Amino acid sequence: MNAASIFSLSRAGVRVEVVPETGSTNADLLARAAQLAEPVLLVAEHQTAGRGRAGRSWLSSSENSLTFSLAWKFEGGPQMLSGLPLAVGVALGDALGRLGVQVQLKWPNDVLKDGDKLAGILIETQSAPGGGTWAVIGVGLNLIMPDDVEALLGRSAAGAPWLARMDRDVLVAALLDALADALRLFAQQGFGAFSARWNLRHAWQGRTVVILDDGKLLQEGLAAGVDDAGRLLLDTAEGRTTVLAGDVSLRVKE
Ligand code: ATP
Repeated sequence: MNAASIFSLSRAGVRVEVVPETGSTNADLLARAAQLAEPVLLVAEHQTAGRGRAGRSWLSSSENSLTFSLAWKFEGGPQMLSGLPLAVGVALGDALGRLGVQVQLKWPNDVLKDGDKLAGILIETQSAPGGGTWAVIGVGLNLIMPDDVEALLGRSAAGAPWLARMDRDVLVAALLDALADALRLFAQQGFGAFSARWNLRHAWQGRTVVILDDGKLLQEGLAAGVDDAGRLLLDTAEGRTTVLAGDVSLRVKE
C-alpha cells in the first residue's frame, strides 16, 4: 500500500501514513495524540498485537486483512462519543455495501457477514491538550479468513474475498472517505443521525439475546434495535430496558 496513492484517491483531505509492520495502530496513534495537529490515518501492512475491547486481541495477517486507525479530534469530552462505535459501524456498513459486500451490525461494535464477524471496531480516547478529545478509531477488516486463523480464534469468522481482489489503496481510500463523512456528521448531529441506518442493518433484531458481563448473565430479552444515544433496546419480561455499551458482551440465545 502507498500513502500518497491513498491520499490522492481519497477526497477526505486526511493525512495518510502506511507502515510495513507495527504492534497496534491504535496504540501508535494514542501515543502520538498529544502531538497531533490534524487527523491522521495510519495503515499497517501487518499488525502483530491488534487489540479488541477489554484486553481481547484482534488477529490478522498481512495479505489477508486490512488494519488501520484514524485519529480524529472532537470538541467536548469523551462522554459525547458513546455512540461513536455504532456510527462507525454504519459508515463501514454503507461503504462495504457500496463495494458489493452486504453486512449486518451487532451491538455495540461488530460488523458481521452471514452471521460471522467480518470487521471489528475499537475506539479509544484521550483528552486533547488544548481542549476537546482525540478519538482513535481502529478497524480490522478480514479480507480472506484462513482456516488456521479461525482455528486460533476458536469460532467461525467471515472474510470478503470479493474485496480481497480490489486494489488495496482504492479500498482504503473508499473506507477513509466514508469514515471522514461519518465523523463530520457525528460531530454535528451525534448518533441520532445514524440510529435509523444502524437499525436497518441490525443483525439480531427480534432475536432473544443475553447480555453477559465477564461471562455472567446480566439480562435477557428480545433485541429491539438501538436508541438515539446508541443504547441497545431490550424487551424483557419486565418491559423495555436500555443497555449501555460498557464492557458487556451480547450473545444470541440458541
Ligand atoms: P465478542 O466478540 O465476545 O462479542 P466484542 O464484540 O467486544 O466481544 P471485540 O473486543 O470487539 O469483541 O473483538 C475481539 C474479539 O474478536 C476477540 O475476542 C476474538 O474473539 C475476535 N477476533 C479476533 N480477531 C478476529 C478476526 N480477525 N476476525 C474475527 N474475529 C476476530
